[in-house]
Parts: sequence; C-alpha cells; structure tokens
Amino acid sequence: MQFDATLLKTIPRTEDVVSFLFPRPDGFDYLAGQYIFVELEIGEKKVRKPFTISSSPTNKDIIEFTKKLTGHEFSDALLSLQAGDTAGIEGPFGKMTYSGEYDKIALISGGIGITPMISISRYCTDKGMDTNIVMISSNKTEQDIAFRDELDTMQKRNPNLKVVHTLTRASEEWEGCRERVCESMILREIPDYRERTFYICGPPPMVEAVKEILYQMNVDKSKVKYELFTGY
Ligand SMILES: Cc1cc2nc3c(=O)[nH]c(=O)nc-3n(C[C@H](O)[C@H](O)[C@H](O)COP(=O)(O)OP(=O)(O)OC[C@H]3O[C@@H](n4cnc5c(N)ncnc54)[C@H](O)[C@@H]3O)c2cc1C
Repeated sequence: MQFDATLLKTIPRTEDVVSFLFPRPDGFDYLAGQYIFVELEIGEKKVRKPFTISSSPTNKDIIEFTKKLTGHEFSDALLSLQAGDTAGIEGPFGKMTYSGEYDKIALISGGIGITPMISISRYCTDKGMDTNIVMISSNKTEQDIAFRDELDTMQKRNPNLKVVHTLTRASEEWEGCRERVCESMILREIPDYRERTFYICGPPPMVEAVKEILYQMNVDKSKVKYELFTGY
C-alpha cells in the first residue's frame, strides 16, 4: 500500500532518537517487526529510506516509526517536518515478524535496532499474550536507551517480559550488564535459549556477530530471524 501521510506529532526518545507518528489509514495491515519506506521531497529530488514500524499492529489509529538522527540530509529533512506536513509511505515489507507463532522468543537489539523489538513487545503486551519474551537491548550509554521508561512499565504489565539492558560504555554508576552480547551473557540471561526463537536487529556487524554466537551454540538457523539496518 502506498499513501501520503500527515505527520501528527513527534516524540523524542533520547537526545538523538525521535519517533514520528502518522494516522493509520484504513486497510493498512502489518505484522509486528515489519518496515515501511518513507519518502520525502528534498529540494528537487525525492528520497526514500526504510524504517521499521515501532508501533504495534494493535494500535488501530497510529503508525509510528523511530529514527536515530544522524545530522545527514534525510535525517534533517525528517526532523524539520511539522505537524500537518506530509511524507510518502509505502509498505509493509519484511519477514522478521512475530504474530504468535512461538511460545518463547528472545529479542536481541543493538542501538536503534530496538524498533522491531518494541513493536513485538507492545503487540504481545497489548494482546495479553502469554508469549515468554527475553529482550536484550545493547546500547553505548544509559542516555542512549530508547523506550526505557515504557519498557519498565511494560515489564510491570506483562509478567512474561524480561528486559536486560547492557551498556558498552557505561558510567561508573551503572549496575547492570556491561558486556557486548556474548555467549556467557546468553547462557546467563537466556538459559533456556534452546527453546527459543531469536530475533536480532541492529547495525550489520552486530547482527552478524550475534548470529555467529548463536550458531556456535548450536542454535538451529531456522530459529534465528534477523533484520540488518543496512545503509547505516
Ligand atoms: C529494513 C530496515 C529497517 C530500518 N529501520 C530503521 C529504524 O527503525 N530506525 C532507524 O533509525 N533506521 C532504520 N534503518 C536505517 C535507515 O533506513 C537509514 O539508513 C538510517 O536511518 C540512516 O539514514 P540517514 O539518512 O540519517 O543517514 P545516511 O546519510 O544514510 O548515513 C548513514 C551513515 O553513513 C555514514 N555517512 C553517510 N554519509 C556520510 C557523510 N557524508 N560523511 C560521513 N559519514 C557519512 C555515517 O556513518 C552515517 O551514520 C533501517 C534500515 C533497513 C534496511
């Protein structure tokens, strides 16, 4: 489906991560984890880039995507949109989806790769599903954790959701994990990893590294789904 959407509002998630919210048109159906192309007119040209839908399919009113700001042309053009401005949207696309097929899943994200994981977590929580979810979200610093408050609240609402934050450049005060996602972290935080289907998303090197770790741990390739945020 292809349509022009009018920006409703933006929500800052961190200093350099912003969500963009648009009305969801009738007939726009998608699965948690899918992405859209967003097209903007920049000067004389039209530029389009893919963004995961961070809202949940259970939200009938809104489509949200969430962008890590880079200071580059497209990023700045998005940021300059005001409520009432339009952007072209096409979608949905993508196969890294969850709609209830597995009882136990593990969501592993690097940085802005959290966007499909938020959609999946919101979806399962909104629907009151008993899907058992372990999310490992890796960021550089505490300030970089997008959706942190919402994830805290979601964990209270959803007893089947466990969120583990790990920081690679943590301050001295940080009491949580400080490792990159590695085998010992998976063994510790996801001891039943053999029973789970994995979803991995983030910058390509991170996704490749986590995939390799899981394959080394004899997790079957059919149980590892991933999305590479190429172009980053
Ligand atoms: C399926 C899919 C889903 C995605 N979902 C999301 C999402 O949910 N959220 C999100 O934020 N992104 C997502 N992305 C990535 C997104 O499409 C963009 O590629 C990304 O946001 C960067 O776009 P940009 O225009 O801001 O930066 P670009 O201009 O494309 O730059 C990207 C990077 O390239 C380098 N670079 C480019 N130009 C220069 C330059 N002139 N000088 C120095 N370095 C440069 C920089 O390292 C920069 O960070 C997704 C990608 C895919 C494929």
